Amino acid sequence: MHHIPVLLKEILAISSPNNESIVLDCTFGAGGYSKGFLELGAKKVIAIDRDSSVSVIASNICSNFNDRFTFHNISYSDIGSVVERSSIDIIVYDLGVSSMQLDLPYRGFSFANDGPLDMRMNPSEQTNTAKDIINTASESDLADIIFKYGDERKSRAIAKKICSVRSEGAISTTLELASIVASVVGYHGGKIHPATKTFQALRIAVNNELEDLEKSLYIAKDIIKPSGIIAVVSFHSGEDVIVKNIFNKWLGKSQYAFNPFGNIHNQHQDIKFKLLTKKPITPHQDEVRLNHRSRSAKLRVIQKLEN
Ligand code: SAH
Repeated sequence: MHHIPVLLKEILAISSPNNESIVLDCTFGAGGYSKGFLELGAKKVIAIDRDSSVSVIASNICSNFNDRFTFHNISYSDIGSVVERSSIDIIVYDLGVSSMQLDLPYRGFSFANDGPLDMRMNPSEQTNTAKDIINTASESDLADIIFKYGDERKSRAIAKKICSVRSEGAISTTLELASIVASVVGYHGGKIHPATKTFQALRIAVNNELEDLEKSLYIAKDIIKPSGIIAVVSFHSGEDVIVKNIFNKWLGKSQYAFNPFGNIHNQHQDIKFKLLTKKPITPHQDEVRLNHRSRSAKLRVIQKLEN
């Protein structure tokens, strides 16, 4: 399935790029955001994606926009290695997985088709797969992962069932795991598959997504210029809470940023910020109708003020 960019109109409207704007697209994916900025006349777009398979799409954009576009196959937790401090006007994040990743069974992100339990964003750089976690984590660690990263109320029962099934032999495929989870959660006749939350949780754990997001936002804070903005589209509460709390901290609203891993950041506040989204921006119902993936999207935007 073609990946449809989420909240793109809203991102472009709130960041209002001009022909001087240097944009950092931290989650290139199918290039929807990068193309949007280039077509609106941004001076330059630097794009990042941890998944090397998108470099084919990046090359196509490169041939259309020449030196206005560059692509780096790195994690957004490493943006400091490709851009200088105070050099970017607009930084955007569109978190999670793309439709392309979900559609390729061998990547193991989805239960729509059978595939190996993999879920690594960058298989050549990461060793730990979803299969490793499912078959080796303790029952209580599994329950914690599924609860914390998936908001799944039945996390303990799911973890218990996984451990009992794996004692008979390794759990290796997406459909095996999906049916184990479904047997615990049950079908409620809704549109959402009962294994959705568990799969989301595993993906987040495999890719260290929340830690990397937090790391990246702190680097982003240093690399935007005065008046520059940071815009983040999140898709579930774990991501959104990180963005909200870090922004609040920069606004001086909370002394401590929430950190799911327990370390406390308490840096002296010297740079001033302004929140451009008092409430997060969510998609119009027309967008949700056209693109189911957008249903849980939330856009938060913050601006660094001139010193
Ligand atoms: N905005 C894009 C879609 C982004 S989908 C568009 O409109 O086409 C999310 C992308 O983020 C995926 O391609 C995924 O590989 C990438 N991603 C996930 N974690 C990442 C990380 N830590 N660093 C960089 N990219 C990451």
